[in-house]
Amino acid sequence: MVDAFGRIATDLRVSVTDRCNLRCTYCMPPEGLDWIPGDELLSADELVRVVRLAVAEGVTEVRFTGGEPLVRPDLEAIIAGAAGLSPAPSISLTTNGIGLTKRAESLRAAGLTRINVSLDTLDRERFTSLTRRDRLADVLDGIEAAKAAGLHPVKINTVPMRGVNDDEVVSLVRWAIDSGVHLRFIEQMPLDAQHAWSRQEMVKADEILAQLASAFTLEPAAEVRGSDPAERWTVTSLDGAATGVVGVIGSVTRPFCAACDRVRLTSDGQLRNCLFSQTETDLRTPLRNGASDEEVVVLMRECLAAKKAGHGIDEPTFLPPLRPMSAIGG
Ligand code: SAM
Repeated sequence: MVDAFGRIATDLRVSVTDRCNLRCTYCMPPEGLDWIPGDELLSADELVRVVRLAVAEGVTEVRFTGGEPLVRPDLEAIIAGAAGLSPAPSISLTTNGIGLTKRAESLRAAGLTRINVSLDTLDRERFTSLTRRDRLADVLDGIEAAKAAGLHPVKINTVPMRGVNDDEVVSLVRWAIDSGVHLRFIEQMPLDAQHAWSRQEMVKADEILAQLASAFTLEPAAEVRGSDPAERWTVTSLDGAATGVVGVIGSVTRPFCAACDRVRLTSDGQLRNCLFSQTETDLRTPLRNGASDEEVVVLMRECLAAKKAGHGIDEPTFLPPLRPMSAIGG
């Protein structure tokens, strides 16, 4: 699956549900959203079929996400189906961590190799007001369970927001170093259901790095960045006692579209060539109407061929996607 700019899709993001057990203020309203009806969600077999076709087309990494992927009881079966493919893709999960205490081992046994847990604050009251649920302890326990299950390194995704948690940039990094996890800061993008995102409010990658530089010495981490959107830094406390790696993902101010190798499948079977795409390719209808593998692959290739050069957030004509992040798959 290659686009007009020569980018090859090797990283498939699969949303398994649009539902979530948190209500993060920057993601969705308190009452939730109009969830996709259950009969429109792809079954485990349908999801694995699309993953199989994508792997045959050159995908080497599959990340399961949502919504909250752990609300789906058959996630282990989906992962096992993907892990059993030949050649086996690398399989990762993006989750809020709630429920990992019970499932980290079974997910690992099913074939999960890497995990990202989203966590924006270490303060219980703040967590409760930000996510509208008092579940910080569950998330922290989930992170420990992921470590204990051998999902190493656990990566933590944090969206810094002005006046909300941007005063925790340094303390979150100190906690990550102490906890043996890798923290990545991600610039907030115009992907919320409420369309409340504002460029002025967004905490920019430069600001995050300036805060880090006040408490740590920073050196670019040795690894090659490739298509990984995170700029990785080795951070060392000013007294030299603690050191770790921090990622900064400047999705808005330092876009990485030119190296983008991603393609996304929504939980209702729509293929997207970009988070910000205004169009989708319906795979669910042909999947359910008896289409052959070859016919589905043609649609997948056509979808990728139409991928634009960039997300276009800086263009005057930019419009946010019709679906919010939670329904696309973050
Ligand atoms: N429920 C899972 C989780 O919490 O990781 C997966 C879905 S969630 C939408 C994936 C990630 O998207 C989370 O780390 C969340 O913080 C992030 N996110 C949500 N809205 C965002 C936005 N507008 N800009 C940047 N990241 C966002």
